[in-house]
Amino acid sequence: MKRLDDILSGAGRILVTGHVRPDGDCVGACLAVRAYAAAAFPEAQVDVCLEPFSPTFDFLKGSGDVIAAPEGAYDLVLVLDASSFDRITESAVPAFQTAGRTFCIDHHVTNTMFAQETHVEAEASSTCEVLFGLMREDRIDAEIARCLYLGIVHDTGVFKHSNTGERTMRIAGRLISLGAVPARIIDDTFYAKTFVQNRLLGRALVRAQLFCDGAIVCSWISKEDLDREGAGSQDIEGIIDQLRVTQGTRIAVFLYELALNEWKVSLRANDTVDVAAVAAEFGGGGHVKAAGCSLSGSLNDCANTLLERLAQEV
Ligand code: AMP
Ligand code: MN
Ligand code: MN
Repeated sequence: MKRLDDILSGAGRILVTGHVRPDGDCVGACLAVRAYAAAAFPEAQVDVCLEPFSPTFDFLKGSGDVIAAPEGAYDLVLVLDASSFDRITESAVPAFQTAGRTFCIDHHVTNTMFAQETHVEAEASSTCEVLFGLMREDRIDAEIARCLYLGIVHDTGVFKHSNTGERTMRIAGRLISLGAVPARIIDDTFYAKTFVQNRLLGRALVRAQLFCDGAIVCSWISKEDLDREGAGSQDIEGIIDQLRVTQGTRIAVFLYELALNEWKVSLRANDTVDVAAVAAEFGGGGHVKAAGCSLSGSLNDCANTLLERLAQEV
């Protein structure tokens, strides 16, 4: 197994990137690696390229230096928390295709091994948990610890999803010792909701319907809903988590419309149903209990297609 120092060493220009619509794990992982590389390899130039992300992550070191589109050639492109080529930050794709080396560090069971070299730990809670294991602990300062802690908090839903293991908790404990402040990170970046985010959550909950004798709960937010609230895709995060805790349900389905008739689908399983496998059938992927895909068409057609397929699982 290669350690992060081995992966980074020898590269003059390094690009770190993640997946489209970056979440806490993706942003935390990218900024952690940037801060780590900058300290360990001061002669290297390390850029982070990501799509816009939640402003609640702005307190992380290096968030202000994230670039929208990389320029020139890179010796190494490191892709974090992205499971397939079509999930890479779009503006980073040319740099990925022309890079001297490409390396992917991830925790998705559906990783397609799209990079030249890949390190996947499918049982890890998050890419940030994987990174902790690849980093030299004496190089993890308080800034890096905050980034990694934030990523673990977001991908475990604050240590409550089934991907939270003993190792996750041990690492989180170490990160607190190294300087991460749990209360601030958990409240300010995970639980805090804007007024508009709460309104969208309310709308989705009022609209939710049960299918298959209550085994499946499904709701949606349309582009029109988002436009009416002046909201974007980062404002619907957390809705699927609230749907998932509906008592008696085995699968939660949430659709939101990115552009007219272009739907992003989130799937969550409460028991043994493998939603990653179902998502993969629709060109998506993810984890056994948390997965997603994209569908084109009317809301009715997309929802019916999904519900018919999911009905076979319950
Ligand atoms: P989400 O429902 O967007 O929070 O995603 C849940 C999990 O599924 C995450 O780990 C994502 O990386 C993965 N995922 C979501 N959408 C896709 C997709 N279109 N293709 C592959 N993986 C996805
Ligand atoms: Mn992610
Ligand atoms: Mn992740």
